[in-house]
Amino acid sequence: MPLTPSGFPLFLTFDLDCETMWTGRDPAYANRPILMSQGAYGWKVGAGRVLNLLDRYGLKATFFVPGLIIDQREALIVEILRRGHEIAHHSYTHTWILNLTPDQEREEMEKGFQSIKRVTGRAPRGWRSPAAELSPITMPMLVEYNFDYSSNFFDDDSPYLHTVNGQDTKLVELPFRWVLDDAPFFQYSIVLPGRTMQSPSALLEAWKSEFDVLYAEDRMMMVAMHPEIIGQPSRIKALEGLIEHALKHPKVWIGRCDELVKDIRPGLERARLEACK
Ligand SMILES: [Zn+2]
Repeated sequence: MPLTPSGFPLFLTFDLDCETMWTGRDPAYANRPILMSQGAYGWKVGAGRVLNLLDRYGLKATFFVPGLIIDQREALIVEILRRGHEIAHHSYTHTWILNLTPDQEREEMEKGFQSIKRVTGRAPRGWRSPAAELSPITMPMLVEYNFDYSSNFFDDDSPYLHTVNGQDTKLVELPFRWVLDDAPFFQYSIVLPGRTMQSPSALLEAWKSEFDVLYAEDRMMMVAMHPEIIGQPSRIKALEGLIEHALKHPKVWIGRCDELVKDIRPGLERARLEACK
């Protein structure tokens, strides 16, 4: 029985971190122009290449964007929206949540929320943590802010509904894993952890194998990428290879997280009710 009425969900998501990938760890990196230029590649070159690839295949996707980048690069965000993609919440400054007080974390949430509301005209529906960390107040805050989905956890290959502080919620998790993220394959920086430069074919091989197993098991596939990384010439070809592989499969459904979550939540809620019986 397929997971959703639409078939097998493949989510192509792009975390448009740009310079905040560095400044989120240490604001002093803002004074190191060559580090900053590696982030700037995301908004100057990578994002456009990603958008053109998606257009070529008629695909819609979700971009998780720190509010600061929304405020600084509004013309690009407007262009992403014009092409039919979703803008989702990815903090305000991309600061590691472990380094924030609860008040600071709430401010990151509120400011990022307002940046998205201002530019898109509506509240964000989804949230992804900067640098894959949460605090004890994060999940309750996602419920309080009425998010439809979170894409953070690594504990499943299928979507599920969160239980927060012992309460059933309607918050859907769209999980992923590090193998479905471009950074562990390619992130190369003098100052960030992880200095790897694998070949694009290694990424494509891993992602095609992931796709084949997940598809055969009627699960879902969440791919998390960064325009400053996947938007580089050799790597965009690897992403295109995944898209071409996926589109050979009749049940595949590539789309925005917010739209698919509407489709899958009723089934998850029914399953939860059944489990209670
Ligand atoms: Zn990020």
